Amino acid sequence: MAQDTPDAPRAPQPGGGREEPVLILAPTGRDAAVAMAWLHTAGIPTHRCQDVAELCARMDTAAAALLADEALPALALDVLRPALQRQPIWSDFPLLLLTSSARATEVLWQRVQALGAVGHVTVLERPLTPVLLLSTVQVALQSRRRQHELRQLQDAQQQHRAAQAALLAQLQARDQALQALNATLEQQVTARTAALRHEMAERQRLEREAQRVQHFALLGRLAAGVSHEIRNPLGAIVLQVDVVEEEFRDPGPASAAEIATALTAIRTNLERLTDLVQDYLSLVRVGEAQLDPADLGLLVTQWAQEMTAALAAQGITLQLEAVDHLGLVALHANTFRRVLVNLVDNARDAMPQGGTLTLRGRRQATTVHLDVADTGVGMPPERLAQIFEPLHTTKPGGTGLGLYIVQEVMAAHGGQVAVQSTVGAGTTFTLTLPVAGAGAPP
Ligand code: ADP
Ligand code: MG
Repeated sequence: MAQDTPDAPRAPQPGGGREEPVLILAPTGRDAAVAMAWLHTAGIPTHRCQDVAELCARMDTAAAALLADEALPALALDVLRPALQRQPIWSDFPLLLLTSSARATEVLWQRVQALGAVGHVTVLERPLTPVLLLSTVQVALQSRRRQHELRQLQDAQQQHRAAQAALLAQLQARDQALQALNATLEQQVTARTAALRHEMAERQRLEREAQRVQHFALLGRLAAGVSHEIRNPLGAIVLQVDVVEEEFRDPGPASAAEIATALTAIRTNLERLTDLVQDYLSLVRVGEAQLDPADLGLLVTQWAQEMTAALAAQGITLQLEAVDHLGLVALHANTFRRVLVNLVDNARDAMPQGGTLTLRGRRQATTVHLDVADTGVGMPPERLAQIFEPLHTTKPGGTGLGLYIVQEVMAAHGGQVAVQSTVGAGTTFTLTLPVAGAGAPP
């Protein structure tokens, strides 16, 4: 070694930021002390090793190693090789080998070849100068720094990949949990839907049952009412029959007139009885009425004609408007007739001094409408809510059945009835029915 002075050389560069030391193994001479002094001056930490074994042991926490050739006999190489091979994948530990002559370099180089591909080896031939040492060490340190950076990058990548994998696993687990939840939910929904359907069917059945019970209870009450109603006309008829009998047994000049009056009274009371029975029967049959397509306009015109005389006798003018436009409707004609009869009867009662009764037809795409409008006494709004209740009547001889029957018959035809009324001006009932075959394909 030409320069064996520990004089502080000028460092070409500060010795990097890493704290890891450069290992020095130069067992003979002053090489170690000189190299350490130069490196310290450049701010590069060092550690002097006693032998190759110590150097190998410290390799993981060192930046590089400077070895003198005399420290590297064939035996030492056997120790060094496995240590170099054990390095992690990112590491390529820099080895600086110091030789004393061209010949020694030759020999050392052969030994280095024997190290195999491992090792990042630089050979420095003596005489060593501060610049030669420092520049070589700087290059080694720079390379080591890069390796560390690479390692950090790899670590970060690995962490990133691990985090990604963990996230993916979490997502997959969540997805599976969601799918399981979904399946459970679907099962629950299906089960609940089935239960609901069952409940609904059961409720509908119970409702129908309750309606039937209610209907029959009402029929019972009505039957009692009707038998009571029958008594008055029957009593009147019996009385008139007595009159007729009396006139036949003991005829006088006025007998013919008396008999005629009695017979008229008998007919009126019989008609009243017939109406009562018809009303009752229409209510009993309303549930099972068989509906057939019929020309409603034609029927209404026909029924109106039958009523004209009786209405005219009471000073009531009957007007038909666009009734022939009503067209085909699914009907049970005899039952439906009760609707018109009851509405016309009420209109007559509402116009004791006479007036106008209008039957007005209107046909729309899916429904037909028939207005029954009178110019009678009308009703206050608060009464409108009650008039469809069975047995509700404001008339001394009333049954309170008429509008109830109207409503039930309309419902049995899939239709409905509405009312509008003004006190002192008149009342309009509007019947609405579905057009025959509406909704069904032609
Ligand atoms: P009833 O005719 O036997 O009284 P309804 O059920 O036919 O029974 O009618 C119930 C009540 O509705 C009648 O008593 C009457 O007060 C009222 N009402 C029905 N139609 C009319 C009408 N056109 N004008 C005025 N009031 C009416
Ligand atoms: Mg009535």
